[in-house]
Amino acid sequence: MGTESRVPRPPEVLADRQAIEATVTRLGREISARHRDGLVIVAVLKGSLLFVSDLVRSLTVQPVVEFLAISRYEPDSGRVRILKDLDLDVTGRDVVLVEDIVDTGLTLGFLLGELGRRSPASLEVCTLLDKRVRRILPAPLAYVGFEVPDVFVLGYGLDFAGRYRNLDMLVTADAVALTADPDAYVDQLYRSHGARGPG
Ligand code: 5GP
Repeated sequence: MGTESRVPRPPEVLADRQAIEATVTRLGREISARHRDGLVIVAVLKGSLLFVSDLVRSLTVQPVVEFLAISRYEPDSGRVRILKDLDLDVTGRDVVLVEDIVDTGLTLGFLLGELGRRSPASLEVCTLLDKRVRRILPAPLAYVGFEVPDVFVLGYGLDFAGRYRNLDMLVTADAVALTADPDAYVDQLYRSHGARGPG
């Protein structure tokens, strides 16, 4: 039987809109309490797109928002290329790096090394998802949204081959089915919400 005929396992909701809102509000409160004099938020594109836009609105202090766009040479290699660097010198600033998910920790290790060399006053990490069962490199996470098991997650900024980022919830999906057909979940995830999938 070819992989094309495989019926993907139905997605499971990991966190719906309400759960995400409650978690982002909590994170905003935690960050604001520690940074009363302001901070620089460094969002890692593209996965943190939706998370950071909600997170900055939940802060009760005023942040400067900066973006870092990266691409990986290959999964789990830890080799990362900076496609778009910060517009700001963060020397002497309090920086919170915002990630969508920390998995092996290799990407984060690279980014912390890179930003650490710029001598910020402080450097903390806020991640929406922590897949700590897969960790290779220890990751100092100051703020964590949800801890997740070893599952593949889509939605609320997280993609597969550029798809599913705009889902307003976090779902788990079958990575094997997605590799065989990146659109495997479009019908289930978009039609059930009365919306059209990408493309
Ligand atoms: P790490 O270097 O920690 O292994 O990888 C982190 C990156 O891998 C994330 O920023 C994300 O792009 C990708 N990643 C890891 N796990 C998942 C997942 O469950 N879903 C999606 N969509 N991306 C993931």
